[in-house]
Amino acid sequence: MSITDYESVIGLEVHVELNTTHKAFCECSTTFGAPPNSQVCPVCLAMPGALPVLNREVVDFAIKAGIATHCTIEPVSRFDRKNYFYPDLPKAYQTTQNDFPICTNGYVDVASGDGIRRIRISQIHMEEDAGKLMHHSEGTEIDCNRCGVPLLEIVSEPDARSAEEAVAYLRKLRAIVRYTGISDGKMNEGSLRCDVNLSVRKKGEEAYGTRVEIKNINSFNFVARAIESEFKRQVELLESGGTIVQETRRFDEKTGQTYSMRTKEDAADYRYFPDPDLVPVRVTKEEVEAIRKTIPRMADERKASYMVTYQLTPYEAERLTEDKEMSDFFEDAVAHTSYPKILVNLILADISPLFTEDTVEYPVNPVSLGALSDLLGEDEINSNTGRRILKSLLENDFDPKAYVEEHQLAQINDRSVLEPIVQAAIATNKRAVKDYLGGKETALRAVIGFAMKATQGRANPLLVEEMIHEAIVE
Ligand code: ADP
Ligand code: ZN
Ligand code: MG
Repeated sequence: MSITDYESVIGLEVHVELNTTHKAFCECSTTFGAPPNSQVCPVCLAMPGALPVLNREVVDFAIKAGIATHCTIEPVSRFDRKNYFYPDLPKAYQTTQNDFPICTNGYVDVASGDGIRRIRISQIHMEEDAGKLMHHSEGTEIDCNRCGVPLLEIVSEPDARSAEEAVAYLRKLRAIVRYTGISDGKMNEGSLRCDVNLSVRKKGEEAYGTRVEIKNINSFNFVARAIESEFKRQVELLESGGTIVQETRRFDEKTGQTYSMRTKEDAADYRYFPDPDLVPVRVTKEEVEAIRKTIPRMADERKASYMVTYQLTPYEAERLTEDKEMSDFFEDAVAHTSYPKILVNLILADISPLFTEDTVEYPVNPVSLGALSDLLGEDEINSNTGRRILKSLLENDFDPKAYVEEHQLAQINDRSVLEPIVQAAIATNKRAVKDYLGGKETALRAVIGFAMKATQGRANPLLVEEMIHEAIVE
């Protein structure tokens, strides 16, 4: 047997830090980056006698996530205590939902090869974050600002079969939390964190193998690498006659390998029990329907409509909708052009890198970009000029049409104007012409380049090529 006879079986547990204004069970602020221990109170520090009160915004956000992932929103759910000691957890238990989570039985569809893979979501539950330990040479400091910050944990069924599918699923989840506005979904800042559960089995087998959990991976790239190396490790172990032990491992970014941290704890170790300080969470149908109305059109829906309305490829539509800001921008701009395909090319090739994780403002005025697409679509300027105008538009806004007139950038499509230039290009580049005629296709570029330069880049390059060809071949 070889590695190609095996497949990986992957389930993901994703933690999403919610951007509610207050913590889950007290009034403390959740703003990121405040001085250590400046956002704490008796409740989140677990002073004796302090009582938690559930922040209803957390419930609303959980419902949004549940709706967007096709879950059942449970009319009654409940908080439990997960007991364990660690210095970043002053309460010595985490308030979480174990037995009765708020959302159950959903799914997310992700692109896989030529088709679609449905990743089922077993549950989404609400819980709280712990504090942060900062290790120094002199010792360790504890910052409790994050204690009690609300999290959602989204648990998938073991439905992903490859690193690509797992990453596609994470990207979808990130888009979902961003579209619904419940989190900024930044993996590098920890607002989207992921544990990967992975087992292997021979292709065609039904039963799952023993799984290993890889904790807290903080980038898409590391998720993919961790999966690939863990898959390989498990297969090699089985092939050499070994057995997989259920354990928790961590991924080392430097070596690209996973390392054992501890053997897996049992649920019993946490002594879960219902939190006696918190009443059950009740959600009415009316509340769910009211929240459903606040959810914007999601990526999947936009993708499908772009493919039909603008004849975009699945790839183009997927890329455009990955990011809500970019998709909104496209929708604003496409209303101002008759050439959506050209607009899409400009956005995907030149503008998408400018939509960073922190984008709050469009990098270009969408009206101007629509006008630029028209100029290109109407052949009034060539792509060279288009790129130059776009560069200027990124610096400050103007009307591209007026700009083209003012700076005389219109493309030269007139054969009689180009004729002498083409003749000069041929005459000065005899060598290249000869090479071209001798079979060296790329040699023609020098001749075209000469003509382009002679027109300050304004000639229609396709027409120039055609004319040179006519002049030397025919
Ligand atoms: P626990 O109660 O120990 O947390 P769960 O049943 O809740 O275990 O599963 C945790 C995660 O592990 C889920 O994402 C699930 O899909 C995944 N998982 C469970 N069994 C397997 C398996 N055999 N292979 C890969 N992933 C698995
Ligand atoms: Zn507090
Ligand atoms: Mg679990």
